[in-house]
Amino acid sequence: MPTDVHNKKYLSLFYSDNRGEWRGLAEKFGVLDYMVERYVQMLGRDGAEMFLSSCLIPPKKSIRCNDLKIDCQRLQEVMEEKGFKLSRISWIPHGLLINNAPSSPSLGATLEYLKGYYYIQGLASMLPPYALHPSPTDTVLDLAAAPGGKTTYLSQLMHNNGLVLALEKKRNRMRGLLSNINRMGATNVVLLRGNASIAPKLGINFDKILLDAPCSGEGLLGKDPSRRTKTTLSRLREFQEEQMKLIKYAALSLKKDGLMVYSTCSVAPEEDEAVIDFAVEHIGLHVVDPKVKVGEPGITEFKGVSFDPSVKMCRRLYPHLHGTEGFFLCLLSK
Ligand code: SAM
Repeated sequence: MPTDVHNKKYLSLFYSDNRGEWRGLAEKFGVLDYMVERYVQMLGRDGAEMFLSSCLIPPKKSIRCNDLKIDCQRLQEVMEEKGFKLSRISWIPHGLLINNAPSSPSLGATLEYLKGYYYIQGLASMLPPYALHPSPTDTVLDLAAAPGGKTTYLSQLMHNNGLVLALEKKRNRMRGLLSNINRMGATNVVLLRGNASIAPKLGINFDKILLDAPCSGEGLLGKDPSRRTKTTLSRLREFQEEQMKLIKYAALSLKKDGLMVYSTCSVAPEEDEAVIDFAVEHIGLHVVDPKVKVGEPGITEFKGVSFDPSVKMCRRLYPHLHGTEGFFLCLLSK
C-alpha cells in the first residue's frame, strides 16, 4: 500500500486554475484565493458566501456532559444557577450548547469544570466517538489522541470498561492529555507516546479505532482566524500524505470486521473524501452508514477526480448549515 504511487490519482486536486477571479471574495473574507475557488465548487457561489460569512463569527461554545460523574440534567441546572443558559442538542446526547454565559466565571474556571463534570468541546467533535459506538467490552485504539476530547468520550461511552489505548506522537501534548484523562475520571485508558506507525507492531487486533487525523483545520476558520491564510495547496498535500499513512496504519491494526471512524476538523475534500477513497480503493476498507442524524453527504467528485460512490455515506458539517465547526467524519469497516 505505498501512498506515493496511489497519490497520483489525487494530484490534480492540488492544481489551482485560479486566474484571480475569486480575489474580491477572498479579500472580503480574508482567505486565500484558492480556498474560495474550492468553496464555490463545493457549495455554489451563494453557499460559499454563506459559509465564509459564518466563518467570520466564532461559533457558540458547547460542552460535553460527563455522565461518569454527574447526571446531565443536574449539570444543566447547576450551570444555569451560575448564569449560563444551555440547550440540549437532538443529535448528540451529551452535548449542551451555551446560548449565554455570565461575564464570570469563564467556562474553564468553574468548580464543575475542575471536577470533570464537563469537557469544553465543539458539538461536531463529539460525533466521532459516538458514531464508533464503542461497547464496554471493546478494545479501542485512539490513534491521534491529544488533548483527549475524544479519548475521554470513548471512556464515557464504555462506562470506563474495556480498554482505550490512547496513542500520541508529540511529547509536549502528553501532559494535557493525561490531565484531561484524570480530570474526566477516565480509568480505562492506557497512554502511549509514539508515532502511529508503531500501532500495527503492537500485535493487538483492535475491535474499533478512532482516527481523528492531524489536518489543516479548515473547519475552524471562525474559531481561529490564523487558519484563513495558513495552509497553502502544497501544505494541504503534505497533510493528505500523512493522513493516507495514518489510515493505513489504522487499517493494519484493526481486526477483521472491526470498525474505524476517520474524522477531521476540515471541510477540505483533499483531506476528507480523497483519503476515504484511497482507503476503499487501495486498503480494502468499506464505508458504512454512521447513522448520525446531522450533516450533508460526502462529495463524490471534486476538481475532476471521482471518488468511490460510497463516500456519500460520510458526513460533512458546516457552520452555516449546522451551527457547528466545519467537520468531516466517516465510518469504515474492514
Ligand atoms: N482527537 C483529539 C481530541 O479530540 O482531543 C485531537 C487530535 S488532533 C486533531 C491530532 C493529534 O495527532 C495531535 O495531537 C498530533 O500531535 C497527533 N499526531 C500527529 N501526527 C501523528 C502521528 N504520526 N502519530 C500519532 N499522533 C500524531
